[in-house]
Amino acid sequence: MSRLNSVIRRLQAQRDCLNAAAEMIKDQDGIVLEVGLGNGRTFDHLREIMPDREIFVFDRQIAAHPKCIPDDDHLFLGDIFETLPTAVERFKGKVALVHSDVGTGDEALNAKIAAFIGSTLPPALIKGAIVASDQKIDVPGTIAEPLPEGVPKDRYFFRRYQ
Ligand code: SAM
Repeated sequence: MSRLNSVIRRLQAQRDCLNAAAEMIKDQDGIVLEVGLGNGRTFDHLREIMPDREIFVFDRQIAAHPKCIPDDDHLFLGDIFETLPTAVERFKGKVALVHSDVGTGDEALNAKIAAFIGSTLPPALIKGAIVASDQKIDVPGTIAEPLPEGVPKDRYFFRRYQ
């Protein structure tokens, strides 16, 4: 497959997963955490498909398109090893959806970040909350949920908090 087709497939799968995750929480109140602003693509999509949800965004730096940067009140700027615990404390039992997209090319670092996110998140999650992620994250108290049709296994991961 050409690299162009490969990128298109990856982004289509990501969009399908975000749409499915939004649908899975549609009957629940709660805020959204977007972990990994990057250039703001997925943040922009989440706010488009969930215009009534409050979305809080995490990144160590701002490198997003100017139109895809949240206001200061919705931005946790810094290393998630420091900012995520603060947010979890603030949003105890209020989070309906977490989208984590912080994968790097470094597998060991990815595993460390995934383990940290998984162990840190639970107090923030409401019953039924979805954790959608580009890396496999074991979140205590959650079970795996199937991906949308057509999304290859291990391309994305869904967990639902029980
Ligand atoms: N979701 C984004 C989008 O659609 O544009 C792409 C996110 S990009 C793949 C990953 C982002 O995670 C980068 O912007 C990087 O700075 C951020 N990141 C990685 N490790 C981090 C950490 N430990 N703390 C804070 N941000 C981190």
